[in-house]
Amino acid sequence: MRLFEGTEWDRPPRCERCDELEEECACPAVEVERTSPQEQTALLAVEKRRKGKFVTVVRRLIDEGSHLSELLTRLKSVCGAGGTIKEGAIEIQGRQLDQVRTELQRLGYRTKG
Ligand SMILES: [Zn+2]
Repeated sequence: MRLFEGTEWDRPPRCERCDELEEECACPAVEVERTSPQEQTALLAVEKRRKGKFVTVVRRLIDEGSHLSELLTRLKSVCGAGGTIKEGAIEIQGRQLDQVRTELQRLGYRTKG
């Protein structure tokens, strides 16, 4: 008797949605369900960092899927500046409060600060 005989592990894995073998499955990737921008309030701040450089920080947004990195890409392009994600917050180089606030609000987020 094989180890998994008669159990659900005794067969090749199948897709839960289309029941095809996983290797043959062509189901599209599952969309991550996201909290809408309207339900989130971004906390904005300009902070001074080492060597007197300023960064504009966006905090308290929920990171679901690749949400924050997509937002970072958009804000960098709107501000024409570099940026990064640090400890769950988006940081854009420079004093970009107005541009960041305007873009976030355009996307539907509430903002504070
Ligand atoms: Zn499938």
